[in-house]
Amino acid sequence: MEQTLSIIKPDGVKRNLIGKIVDRFESNGLRIAAMEMKWLSRREAEGFYAVHKDRPFFGELVDFMVSGPVVVMALEGEDAVVRNRDLMGATNPSEAKAGTIRADFAESIGENTVHGSDSLENAKIEINYFFPSTQVMSDIK
Ligand code: ADP
Ligand code: MG
Repeated sequence: MEQTLSIIKPDGVKRNLIGKIVDRFESNGLRIAAMEMKWLSRREAEGFYAVHKDRPFFGELVDFMVSGPVVVMALEGEDAVVRNRDLMGATNPSEAKAGTIRADFAESIGENTVHGSDSLENAKIEINYFFPSTQVMSDIK
C-alpha cells in the first residue's frame, strides 16, 4: 500500500471538474485518505514547487497555482504513485494518452488540471507539506 499527493489545480476547480477527477481515482483503485480545498498562498506554492525554481516557467507556474482554489488530496492504494501518474497522463496534454485526466480535461502544458507526486520519496515529502499525519486517514492503521 502506498500514498501519493494529488492536487486538482485551479483550472480543474474553476471548470467544475472536482467530482469527475475524484471519480477517476475512486474507480481505479485509489481511495481518498485526506482532502482539503484551499487557496494556496504564493509562499506555499513557491515552496511546493521549489525543485522547479530555476526553470523558465517557474513564475508562470506559481502565478497559475495561486490564481484560484485547489483541492489537495492524499490518495492511497496499491502502487498509488505510478497508478496516479498513469491516470493523470503526460505533463503536456497534447502528448497524454487518450482516456487520461490530462488528455480529457487539460488545456495546456501549464494549465494541466492535476498534480501528482513523481516518486514514493517525493510523495511522502509532499503529503507532509500539506497534511499533518493525524489528517491522513489511512486504511492500514
Ligand atoms: P508533472 O506535473 O507532470 O510532474 P513537471 O514536474 O515537469 O510535470 O512540471 C511541474 C508543472 O510545471 C507541470 O505540471 C506544469 O503545470 C508546469 N510546466 C511544466 N513544464 C512546463 C512548460 N514547458 N511550460 C509551462 N509550464 C510547465
Ligand atoms: Mg512533477
